Amino acid sequence: MVIESDVVIVGGGLNGAALACALRHGPHTVTLLEPKPPLPPAPPTEGEGSDAWDSRIYAYSPGNVNWIKSQGGWGAPVRAQAVYRMRIHGDAGGDLDFDALEAGLPELAWIAENGRLQASLWQSLSDTPNLRVVTTPAEAVTWGDDGRHALHLADGSTLASRLLVAADGANSWVRRQAGIGFLLEDYKHIGVVANFETEKPHRGAAWQWFRDDGVLAYLPLPGNRLSMVWSTPPEHAALLQASSPDELASRVARAGGHALGELRCITPPAGFPLKRRLADTWVRPGLVLLGDAAHTVHPLAGQGVNLGFRDSRLLANVLKSAGDPGEIGRLIAYAARRREDVATMQLVSGSLRKLFGRQESLIRTLRNHGMNFADHFPPLSQALMHHAAL
Ligand SMILES: Cc1cc2nc3c(=O)[nH]c(=O)nc-3n(C[C@H](O)[C@H](O)[C@H](O)COP(=O)(O)OP(=O)(O)OC[C@H]3O[C@@H](n4cnc5c(N)ncnc54)[C@H](O)[C@@H]3O)c2cc1C
Repeated sequence: MVIESDVVIVGGGLNGAALACALRHGPHTVTLLEPKPPLPPAPPTEGEGSDAWDSRIYAYSPGNVNWIKSQGGWGAPVRAQAVYRMRIHGDAGGDLDFDALEAGLPELAWIAENGRLQASLWQSLSDTPNLRVVTTPAEAVTWGDDGRHALHLADGSTLASRLLVAADGANSWVRRQAGIGFLLEDYKHIGVVANFETEKPHRGAAWQWFRDDGVLAYLPLPGNRLSMVWSTPPEHAALLQASSPDELASRVARAGGHALGELRCITPPAGFPLKRRLADTWVRPGLVLLGDAAHTVHPLAGQGVNLGFRDSRLLANVLKSAGDPGEIGRLIAYAARRREDVATMQLVSGSLRKLFGRQESLIRTLRNHGMNFADHFPPLSQALMHHAAL
């Protein structure tokens, strides 16, 4: 059996699901291929319930949240906390404070769970006439010279399309099948994540500490809770992950100067090796790579999925008009417009990581002075906040 669609999206993670959501009412027929669809989450609970929290919790820019809301993808399953203030501490007295009020923004970011946002995006896809969901894995691809590619599925059926979208994550199967190489930089850090209940209320503040053992972030969650991301060398990551819940909580509270008092671990730690990737090309006739399939960044600027959402936003916009969705001219124009944003974020997060990885005392002094300078120069800090809000 051959199933024909204008667009086939491989991967229904946050980026693939957001694109599918945005294409729902467009002129094209769409197939979303995802072998592991998200399970519907338990209904959200109010207040201080002790229900489970996803270990993958991200910061989303207000621009992306507004876009997802406008597509109907930010629904009841999502539990989100607004960030009104962000305090960044250097490793020798440098401080940088971002305040939404001072920048004239309603909030700096939103914090929410990967799993619940993905489930919410998927809920919005049900009963959509131009969209089909397929859960059978693909085993091979036939690449058409005319840009019409076909995916051969494990059940013997074929998905034929005019545009194949690879949204299948950092280790993209589609990218491998297409023989597209990528630049790979191993940051030699593990991102250790865990969630905690806090003794003191966070009042919508986020913290980040640049330390000798890496970068520690507290992201506020609804209620008196926080999500921690500690980007740190593998030996220290192993120590954190082997700690008992109480030991881990006291290490994390101490490293954060007890900014939120004592902590209680509510989600066991998980570790993610951190790597920068950049695919050699993002588009070919009838093919687009987006989200982590095209690029990954260090999480210290909280921009990985935000870049992917901006890919999906622009691609959905490009595909609003009828006509061949895989036509290379419009795909090249799309990729050209996305390149600067990705290059900037890779440069900023990579440079910050390198700058704070150096131990020489002169560099330590300069970087901390730099933070204090930015803090006392409102046009610079406000420009940074406005850029991050996109
Ligand atoms: C520690 C850490 C903290 C982070 N914090 C932030 C943050 O605060 N803010 C931020 O913006 N980003 C953050 N990120 C980055 C973010 O996690 C990723 O950018 C984002 O999850 C990528 O989404 P994606 O949809 O492109 O890929 P994925 O989430 O990897 O989804 C890929 C999907 O494709 C499916 N798939 C895989 N193979 C196939 C196949 N062969 N066929 C069909 N489907 C397939 C998978 O099942 C999955 O559903 C962080 C990352 C890390 C590691």
